[in-house]
Amino acid sequence: MRETITRRSFVAGAAAAAATSLAVPRHAAAADKPALLGGTPAHKGGWVAWPQWDASWEPGILDVFRSRHWCSAGASGKVGEFEKAYAQLHGAKGCVATASGTTALITSLYVAGVDAGDEVITSPYTFNATYNAVLMQKALPVFADTDPATLTMDPDSIESRITDRTRAILPVHIYGLPCDMDRINAIAKKHNLAVVEDACQAWLGEYKGRKCGTLGDLGCFSFQESKHIPAGEGGAITGMSIELLDRCRSFINCGRATGTFKGSGCFTRGSNFRMKTYQAALLFAQVEKLVRETEVRRANADYLIAGLKQIPGIHPVRWPENSRPVWHLFPFRYDAAEFHGLPHGKFIRALQAEGIPCGGGYSEQYFDGMFDEAIASRGFQRLFSPERLKAYRQSFQDLKGNRQVCQTTVTMYQSMLLAERSAMDDIITAVQKIHAHSAELAKA
Ligand SMILES: *Cc1c(COP(=O)(O)O)cnc(C)c1O
Repeated sequence: MRETITRRSFVAGAAAAAATSLAVPRHAAAADKPALLGGTPAHKGGWVAWPQWDASWEPGILDVFRSRHWCSAGASGKVGEFEKAYAQLHGAKGCVATASGTTALITSLYVAGVDAGDEVITSPYTFNATYNAVLMQKALPVFADTDPATLTMDPDSIESRITDRTRAILPVHIYGLPCDMDRINAIAKKHNLAVVEDACQAWLGEYKGRKCGTLGDLGCFSFQESKHIPAGEGGAITGMSIELLDRCRSFINCGRATGTFKGSGCFTRGSNFRMKTYQAALLFAQVEKLVRETEVRRANADYLIAGLKQIPGIHPVRWPENSRPVWHLFPFRYDAAEFHGLPHGKFIRALQAEGIPCGGGYSEQYFDGMFDEAIASRGFQRLFSPERLKAYRQSFQDLKGNRQVCQTTVTMYQSMLLAERSAMDDIITAVQKIHAHSAELAKA
């Protein structure tokens, strides 16, 4: 379902530049007037739509509906098939499919031993499902600092946040950028903490030769509609311990004993967080596609980084050595000082006007009211002292790096990285144009 990208705008731009200059720079259209000031957009013709549908999946998926076996509680059927493939893909010992990424996180935190009144150290730069899952356990999500160069949690800030209530660290491989897991795991080991990875944006992400989701005790994935392997909703837990995974499988299946725990009845609390068989069929059909497209996104991201980093004030992100991101969003940081003070929001509007869809990434969501509501609740007030809750709320003001990241990041959606190479050139051209005309744009 790839929408055609017309090359007409690029050709027209190049011809116009050639008429006025003998030495045509590579992205000649950079000299053109920005679209926000009435010029022609750098990119025309739309972008790759998401999610995608392939008619070749239809017979297999229809079979599942016709089988009338839609629930995975008894015989897991398609769910088991997908779990096996997904575990193999990630080099995990096993995989437990769930109803969503959120329920994968809730399950993993429970199995990791996080209980009411505990604390979990996590990243503030994430989708709010990460810390909502902690709040659901009636535990406090305690934020680490954000490293502006990587957008992930700064390992140097973790130890100072540990208290006698801390049970786990919940690193987030945000946008598919792997966290520095060796350092995080070393701190966890030293303080006897569990590590649950939020890999909900990091399918096939690699850290030092191993896949995200297999680096801590348990790893959580999402298959929600916007994600790289979508099924409307859906999630998975991966790991290297069969015992922990069996506990997860019991928890998502109302506490029923399974695997290691066979025969002992409902031995644990639990809920119904099961994946449906037709979700699994849709996911199974997309495994090869995920592998193929991950490489396309990587190649286009590398190309974009090489082009964008030449532009003063544009700072692509960094990630750990020997590691490979998967780019759920493609982010870079924007330095307005190199753009004559053109504000971040206006830079984004100017880029959008060029036909390049983009946004500002996550905001400082901890000021939105969710935490005030939690802190004011009867449960949290019973579980934590007034002093602890006051200091906790105050700590949001002192987070290093996160405000800066929220105020300076620019993001583009993953499906844009599936477009033709010429479309990547359009993105680079658009930013060059804005840079070349930033003084006018700042005044306009
Ligand atoms: C999508 C996402 C989740 C939640 O997944 P759902 O499947 O939407 O419940 C959690 N964490 C991160 C970082 C996500 O991107």
